[in-house]
Order: sequence, then C-alpha cells, then structure tokens
Amino acid sequence: MSDLSNSPNLPAETTWLRAARNLGPAFSKRAAKWDENREYCWENIDDLTDAGLMGMSIPLAHGGQGASFLAVVDVVEEIARHCTLSARIVVEANMGGISAVMAYGTEEQKKLCASYVLNGDKPAICITEPGAGSAATEMTTVAQKVPGGYRLSGVKHWITGGGVSKLHLVFARVLDEDGVNLGIGGFLLLHDPQADLSCPGFEVIGRERTMGLCGMPEAELRFTDVMIADDMVISPPSGFSRGFADLMTAYNSQRVGAGTIALGIAAGAVDHAIRYLKEREQFGRPLAEFQGLQWMLAEMDAKVHASRLMLREAAQTLCGKGFPDMHMAARAKMFASESAISVVNDALQMFGARGYGAQEPLERMYRDVRMFTIGGGTAQILKTQVAGGLLGIKVPQTRDGYVKLAEGAAK
Ligand code: FAD
Repeated sequence: MSDLSNSPNLPAETTWLRAARNLGPAFSKRAAKWDENREYCWENIDDLTDAGLMGMSIPLAHGGQGASFLAVVDVVEEIARHCTLSARIVVEANMGGISAVMAYGTEEQKKLCASYVLNGDKPAICITEPGAGSAATEMTTVAQKVPGGYRLSGVKHWITGGGVSKLHLVFARVLDEDGVNLGIGGFLLLHDPQADLSCPGFEVIGRERTMGLCGMPEAELRFTDVMIADDMVISPPSGFSRGFADLMTAYNSQRVGAGTIALGIAAGAVDHAIRYLKEREQFGRPLAEFQGLQWMLAEMDAKVHASRLMLREAAQTLCGKGFPDMHMAARAKMFASESAISVVNDALQMFGARGYGAQEPLERMYRDVRMFTIGGGTAQILKTQVAGGLLGIKVPQTRDGYVKLAEGAAK
C-alpha cells in the first residue's frame, strides 16, 4: 500500500473502516472468480452483512447505524481497492435508492426497505431506458393512476442488479386517471420469489455481456401493467412536477459513491504499481530507479489524492435535503472517474506484458474502471452540469432549449 499515513486528508480509522480493511484480503482473493464466472458475489455479501456494512448509513431508528456519507465513502474506497463488485454493492446499499427512501419515504417504506438492505439486498435503481439515456427525462415508462395504486408499464435497461435485487426503485412518468402527465415519480417494486412476493407483469428479459464488473448483472427489465399500490409510491417533497429533480438530488450521493469506487480502484492500482516497481528488474536495476516511471507514479498519486479530496469534500457538504451538493458531486465524479481510468492504465503499463495478462489483477481493474465515466451520468453530462453551475444557467441541451432560455430571460 502506498504510504500516505501522515496525510491529514486520509480517513481516521472508524470501526467500519477497520471492518472493511479486515475483509480486503479475502475479497482480493475472490475477485477474479466473480469476474471469470460472471457470478454475483453472495459470499462477500454475507461478509459485508455480518460486518454491518450493508445499510450502515440507515438511521438507528430503522435498525442501521446512522453512518455519515463520509464514513461510507471511506469504506467504499477501501473495498474497491480489492473488489469493485463488492464496492458497488456497498454504495447501493447505503446511497442512491435507499437514501431516497430514507429521505422521502413513509415510515412503513423506510422500515420495509431497511429490513431488506440490512439483510443483504442491494436495491436496484431503474432510470435508464433504450430511448432515454443521458436524456433521462424523456423516459416513456408510465405509471397510470388506477383505484388503489398505479399501473406501471415500460422497459428499463442497464439496470445494475436486475435479477438479483429484490427491491427496485423505478422512475416513471406519472399519469393521472385521465392520462394527464403529472411529472416523474419513484415507485417501489418488491420482487422476492423466495418470500412468495413476486410481482405479476415484472420480467427480467435480458442480461448485457459487459466488458468489466462481470459478476454484476446489468439487466433489461420489462413492466407490463405491474400494479404498484399507493403505499409503494415514493412521493418527493415537491410533488411529481419536480419529482425528477428531488429524486436526482438523492442520486448525488450515489454519484459520490460511484466516483469513490473509481478512486478505490485507482488507489489499488497505485499499490500494485509500487510493489512491482520495487520487485521487477531490467537493465540490472529495479524499475523503481527509472525516472520515467517515477514521474508517472507521482502523477498517478496526485490524481488519486485530488480525487479523494474532492469526493470527501462532496460527501461532507450536504445541501438542505441532507444529500451531497450537486455541483461538488458532479465535479468529483467526473474528475475521479477520468483520473482513475488514466491511473489504472498507467499502472498496467508499468507491468509491461504481465499487466496485460490475467495473472495480475490490473487487466480486470482496467476493464472494471472503464464504466465510471458512463454509468450514473456520463462525464460529458456531468461537465455540462458543472459548467451550468459556474455560469449560473441550466445549459439547455434540446434544440429549442436556447430559445426558451432567451424567452425566459426577456420576461
Ligand atoms: P447516451 O445518452 O446515448 O450517450 C452517448 C454518448 O453521447 C455519451 O458519451 C454521452 O456522454 C454523449 N452525450 C449524450 N448527450 C450529450 C450532450 N447533451 N452533450 C454532450 N455529450 C452527450 N442506469 C440505471 O437507470 N440504473 C442502473 O443501475 C444503471 N447501471 C449502469 C451500469 C453500467 C455498467 C452502465 C454502463 C450503465 C448503467 N446505467 C444505469 C445506464 C447509464 O446511466 C447510462 O448508460 C448513461 O446515463 C448514458 O446513457 P446512454 O448509455 O444511453 O448514452
């Protein structure tokens, strides 16, 4: 491990961080198995659950430990050094969907969701559709009001955990009884065949064959007239008309989490690079003595450190609703994900052919890290968001957006 122990910006060791450090060696050993077999890491989930890391951020009143996002971020970085798959599960069991429920849900919803997560379920968050990726508000999945609830219909794809997750937070366009569009809402869907809780009309219709994170199903889900009871609607504070904005505010925590996974992979890659530079000799000298590689290493370390500072700052700077500041979260994820790709690439380069082969974890880490400039808001969309914050405008993306903006300014 790189020796940064004197840095004031490194996390203090909490009980959770200690638990994560204890799990590291076993998670490192198993990581290749999940990847090769495209297998979900149930064994690690048992360990994470026993260690209290699943749902550690859930408030004490709901059976969790009330850990801050900062404490979660520290755990996620540590786990991601060893196993990206497990780190993603820790993020989704503490941030994003579950934090939206804890912020906006009813007491019953909080109780229900907390019990699933604390027992090892990783909730799935279902936003993206074949025709609505970056332009998420163009989603066509609808939830039509009917007596007693809502009828949900549509298709979502690239849903992390689809097929293994029991809890799903589905974003859908809400229509009233007359078909009038009210905005976007969140709908809790519980699919737990083991507990005889299946959802008629809910199907997993496909699994992507992915480049990295191969143990995690990325699934296509179809909803055909799925009945969602009224008490399973997550009602954002400003109602459905601003529902998307409220739900995305909660998603800022998941963005910080995703950036932190990228950071953890990069930090792990630096650890491997330091080991190998000292170990491998060419021209009669350890690689560590070549200045070309030393400079690469220094730049890698700077990127890791800057990412950590940005992510920890975002995790601590909570806006009114208790979620990370949007601007800081976008900036940190954008920077950390792009930096991590370059750091892991450089580490792999330092290993020469050995880095390209499967006997070292670098090739897997390189495949894993690649997704973080795509999933959870692409780097381009986040940059647009950051620039909009700096310019003080919501930078329009649709063709008629600038016309509307100018009209608004003229009023
Ligand atoms: P597109 O929106 O089609 O974009 C294609 C390219 O164009 C990108 O490079 C993008 O940055 C760029 N682009 C698009 N619009 C603009 C613009 N206005 N300005 C500049 N560039 C632009 N979704 C979920 O709902 N739940 C999940 O659990 C989930 N997990 C995922 C896991 C993985 C591994 C991946 C890869 C994706 C996951 N997603 C998930 C989907 C993810 O959020 C989307 O892939 C992402 O929002 C981008 O959408 P898209 O892939 O359709 O790309």
